Amino acid sequence: VLSCHDLYRFFRAGDEETLALRGVSLSVARGEVVAVVGPSGSGKSTLLYCLAGLDEPDGGAVTLGNERLSHRPELERARIRSRRLGVVLQSGNLLAHLTIDANLRLVQTGRERQLPDQLLEQVGLANRGSALPRELSGGELARAGLAVAVSNDPDVLLADEPTGELDGQTEQLVLDLIRARARDGRGVLLVTHSPAVTRIADRVITLSDGRIAA
Ligand code: ATP
Ligand code: MG
Repeated sequence: VLSCHDLYRFFRAGDEETLALRGVSLSVARGEVVAVVGPSGSGKSTLLYCLAGLDEPDGGAVTLGNERLSHRPELERARIRSRRLGVVLQSGNLLAHLTIDANLRLVQTGRERQLPDQLLEQVGLANRGSALPRELSGGELARAGLAVAVSNDPDVLLADEPTGELDGQTEQLVLDLIRARARDGRGVLLVTHSPAVTRIADRVITLSDGRIAA
């Protein structure tokens, strides 16, 4: 359902030049969990940003179902993203001045709405809906971000290190939620360093220096 073909992404910062993606092609099918692994700096987050339409590749294309996601105005990409994708970023995806409940309701624009309470219970945050993001711990924040990302029942969930700060038990909650999404026919792409996460993936893609190495 989500795919990219021959993606290139080039960064210039001062006189430092980085080719972060060098011809990456992959796809995420319905019902499938794909894990992307690789060393720090190998291009995983850059790839996720391009797949989410948050960044534009310098070469290649991103396609979501029968819609082109890359190479179109940012506003159009944002509309497609809010309708069809759920995104969890390393830097967080919650609005700081809104409660967790308000963050959840904000993104629930269409389709099958799940009550904020049910969503929060699924990620082990029952009764924390009235909290502000800054009142949550790092691991709680990560789970709230995941709840927000899935609350619009996206075709594809894209998550950067969704279990980065979690202990074994809460990691299991998140993994159950991710597997359930695939079982319901949705696609999932996860960037991770965690062996527990790669174990639940149907496929593992290894990035090295901006290329798919395995
Ligand atoms: P980590 O596991 O540490 O999160 P990563 O695999 O996600 O690493 P990326 O964030 O995709 O790595 O970065 C890939 C390369 O591109 C790195 O060399 C990084 O310094 C560079 N890079 C990423 N974003 C930018 C940017 N906005 N400007 C300049 N360089 C960038
Ligand atoms: Mg990263």
